[in-house]
Amino acid sequence: MSHKITLIPGDGTGPELADVMKKCVEATGVDIEWDMQEAGIDAIGKYGTPLPGSVVESIKKNRVAIKGPVTTPLGSGFRSINVALRKELDLFACVRPCKYYAGAQSLLKNPENVNIVVIRENTEDLYAGIEFEQGNEKTKKLIDEIKTLSGRSVREDSGISIKPISIFGTKRIVKFAFDYARKNSRKRVTAVTKSNIMKFSDGLFQNTAEETAKNYPEIEFGHKLVDNMCMQLVQKPELYDILVLPNLYGDIISDLCAGLVGGLGMAPGANIGEECALFEATHGSAPKYKGMDKVNPTALLLSAAMMLRHIKESDAADRLERAVSAVIKEGKYVTYDLKPSGGKKAVGTKKMADAIIKKITG
Ligand code: NAD
Repeated sequence: MSHKITLIPGDGTGPELADVMKKCVEATGVDIEWDMQEAGIDAIGKYGTPLPGSVVESIKKNRVAIKGPVTTPLGSGFRSINVALRKELDLFACVRPCKYYAGAQSLLKNPENVNIVVIRENTEDLYAGIEFEQGNEKTKKLIDEIKTLSGRSVREDSGISIKPISIFGTKRIVKFAFDYARKNSRKRVTAVTKSNIMKFSDGLFQNTAEETAKNYPEIEFGHKLVDNMCMQLVQKPELYDILVLPNLYGDIISDLCAGLVGGLGMAPGANIGEECALFEATHGSAPKYKGMDKVNPTALLLSAAMMLRHIKESDAADRLERAVSAVIKEGKYVTYDLKPSGGKKAVGTKKMADAIIKKITG
């Protein structure tokens, strides 16, 4: 069966990673017609926007997309394309598996016991984009209103970001996490919040998660405060299975978990909605390495394996994952981050991908 899939190479190191990902997926023999779409800072010159409307249209039509990372310039007023895509397509669930592959450079004593899936709510929380700039008239009005409604003073020279967390959004993500646990024979879901401080947003997330968990009696449920969770993940990561979190904590904890299993080059991801799914690595565009054929393709390749499973090409997904795993284990044709001692004798992105293709086809 032929699949039509939107491919967004992105910018920075994105295009070189997308190129090898495409070759590795094609090596599995799966029949894919790639619908190539441009987004990111490189698209601005051509389209006048980093996210041309045709990109969203293509994903809506094909329902499945894979994307290289894109840059979000800091403090430019330029909204993150990633956040925009997740909102526009209502990709409410971000799934980031953090599993150790033998050969990866982890600082843990027993990294082989780490097999965590971070499930992050993607549409609400401080990432909802509801912000009031310092000094603005509307911000001053809001500060007055806050004083009237809550009796609390906010300093006049403040900027404000709003943190909405709804019962609807929380139920939806927690249900997704439990359904994922059921489907993948996982045993335990842990909700992570700061409910002791933010009672009406994180407290709502915790209470709603506890209620939803009652529908899944065969799966263990727990709750942890996010600060404690950070320490526990570093000291006893093997105790955790699936984590479900509001947007901001999910973003931060998934990078922490990536660090446990060897760094950002090892962490794949997917953004899933009712209609569409967009697969992408956890890492960003690593612009300092742009065009240097240097960075690790594993995260995007494992994202591609998740994509293949999503389109019911599990055999191809298994072959791709096994090939990646074998090349990392051998440790010969791997990128700098997969080598001990500062990456001596490392190969580049392309050579590592060639070794993976050889395993797939050999
Ligand atoms: P980054 O993830 O791009 O890179 C941080 C560091 O991690 C790099 O300098 C590198 O040392 C390492 N790293 C990242 N990817 C790697 C790989 N594949 N192999 C080996 N090492 C790797 O984070 P950043 O520098 O904070 O962000 C750069 C840009 O990417 C920013 O504009 C940010 O907004 C954007 N970003 C995009 C996405 C996305 O497109 N999904 C996600 C996160 C950040």
